[in-house]
Amino acid sequence: MDRIPYALGAHLSFSKGFLHMGQEAKAAGMRTMQFFLRNPRGAGAKPLDEADAAALRDFLGEHGFAPVVAHAPYTLNPCSPDARVRALAEEMLADDLRRMAHLPGNLYNFHPGSRIKQPLDDALGAVAALLNRLLTPDMETTVLLETMAGKGSEVGGTFPELRAILERVELQDKVGVCLDTCHVWDAGYDLVRDLDGVLEAFDREIGLSRLQCIHLNDSLNPCGSRKDRHALLGAGQIGMDALCRVVAHPALCALPIVLETPTDTAGHAAELRAVIRHIQKEETA
Ligand code: FE
Ligand code: FE
Ligand code: ZN
Repeated sequence: MDRIPYALGAHLSFSKGFLHMGQEAKAAGMRTMQFFLRNPRGAGAKPLDEADAAALRDFLGEHGFAPVVAHAPYTLNPCSPDARVRALAEEMLADDLRRMAHLPGNLYNFHPGSRIKQPLDDALGAVAALLNRLLTPDMETTVLLETMAGKGSEVGGTFPELRAILERVELQDKVGVCLDTCHVWDAGYDLVRDLDGVLEAFDREIGLSRLQCIHLNDSLNPCGSRKDRHALLGAGQIGMDALCRVVAHPALCALPIVLETPTDTAGHAAELRAVIRHIQKEETA
């Protein structure tokens, strides 16, 4: 069985616009990509260039891209105890979803946020309530919660926490999950010694049918460290064998798979070629 993943890609810079990004991904041999729609450490965004968005939409269709992923800014904290921070999160998320309406059929990924000193249940409820205000039956974007490392008071570091948000969302077909290999490893899910166990836990708690994207990153730190420091594939503590087992897994190999490792597009392209070579070597071995 062919288990070379179809839709490999990486996080790219949005600085030269939508179409340029698609062309850059294609030239690097990618069939998906991820990008920020605004300054990831602020709130500001340039006005949307509708013609450029339409040009990317056509380009992705022509070249057989899998769904692409817009990533919410890191400053977005939908479960902050501070009402102003929550309001800003709502504003940014609403604006990003309006932008994504120009790229129908794709994914929007966000971090559930940090609860600071709030009770966990209030934080989980705040994220679900925000989604219930913003998701609409006619939207064509699927909104993904990302699995988190559990650093500090981060929400979403366990599968049951993600389930507790998802089960309170009214429009179930508009939401899903993005699994970040560095984050789940750092959160204590052992992808090296027990991939099947991790996927069984995901399926039991959340449902594998909800999994719509993989962030493929190695981790600088040991399993359970809750640090969230990405490493180049094979240069961290997860290692190339385990990372390739993740993306070649029959339940995962058809998903969009996005690198967020600390390098540029040429570096990402080289890492993706190394992944394919590694899987081919395993298959013939
Ligand atoms: Fe992320
Ligand atoms: Fe990630
Ligand atoms: Zn991360």
